[in-house]
Amino acid sequence: MKAAVFYGKHDIRIEEIPTPEIGERDVLIRVRACGVCGTDVHIFNGDEGAAKSPPHTVLGHEFSGEVIRAGAKVSGVSAGDRVCVDPNKLCGQCDYCRSGIGHFCEHMVGIGTTVDGGFAEYCAVPESQVYKFGPELTCEKAAMTEPVSCCIHGIDLCEIECGGTVAVIGCGMIGLIMIQLARLRGAAKIIAVEPVESKRKQALSLGADVAVNPTGCDVPKALAAAGVQRVGTVIECVGKTGTIGTAVEIAGRHSIVMMFGLTAPADTVQIRPFELFKKEITLKASYINPYTFSRALALIESGKIDVSSMVHAVAPVEKLPAILSDPGLRAKGKYLITCG
Ligand SMILES: [Zn+2]
Ligand SMILES: [Zn+2]
Repeated sequence: MKAAVFYGKHDIRIEEIPTPEIGERDVLIRVRACGVCGTDVHIFNGDEGAAKSPPHTVLGHEFSGEVIRAGAKVSGVSAGDRVCVDPNKLCGQCDYCRSGIGHFCEHMVGIGTTVDGGFAEYCAVPESQVYKFGPELTCEKAAMTEPVSCCIHGIDLCEIECGGTVAVIGCGMIGLIMIQLARLRGAAKIIAVEPVESKRKQALSLGADVAVNPTGCDVPKALAAAGVQRVGTVIECVGKTGTIGTAVEIAGRHSIVMMFGLTAPADTVQIRPFELFKKEITLKASYINPYTFSRALALIESGKIDVSSMVHAVAPVEKLPAILSDPGLRAKGKYLITCG
């Protein structure tokens, strides 16, 4: 089969490799769509602290497809079912798993990061990781379940007040999902902070009430001019030190600042504790997608959130090396990859 194989920093090759074998509790999936994620870019760039992908791993952890074959002990799915995949397999037995915080599992297996994933024609996946979906949902939309599941964990941690005001900084795919989730959580006013005009427009069409261009602008003043009262929640979806600073700056009294955007591992931010004290700000972060996968799929299947308008293109796997190495391409929006 054809697959995108990671060899090491800045080296990913499209190759013919053997179609994977399945164990008795696995299913073989014909992959139909696999999203390109910031994590793939970190792995491609050899960033320290990103998921440890051994050489010769097939990357791709946001995918969906149809079950071709099921192992002898698989009972919940069978050939012909269409499924999406939670890539994070927990051991269920370590102290973290047994304490209900399995996303810190000591023996976590990452499909598409530590073992072979979805930038391939086929992928073997344990039954425990697959979620079936109905005929009305496309594989392209279902492939977005993983990023949505990560956003749901983040939104859960934000404790948005019904009727409250939420600011979302950065309106790439993640920010646009966060805006929709904040609306569903009952936010009365949502502010989008985003320098690119087309993304601001998208933010407004997906539920933001106010969109601010931060370039050359005093964001707190712009918010005051727009009549924004106390911002109770700020969700930073960029992962840059400057935008984390902006998040703390625009956070209101008794607020939560969610640092959702992934920074470079060695980045540091300067924060004045006095400002946190004065405004009683709680700083939070969110790690992967514990126990949120079925809710993410339910939201996508019900049409309650739009996961299509932020997809820039569905591209053949041959384009993957260019997408991973060219930030200009990625700035256009989310890419989904098809193979074969
Ligand atoms: Zn991802
Ligand atoms: Zn565990």
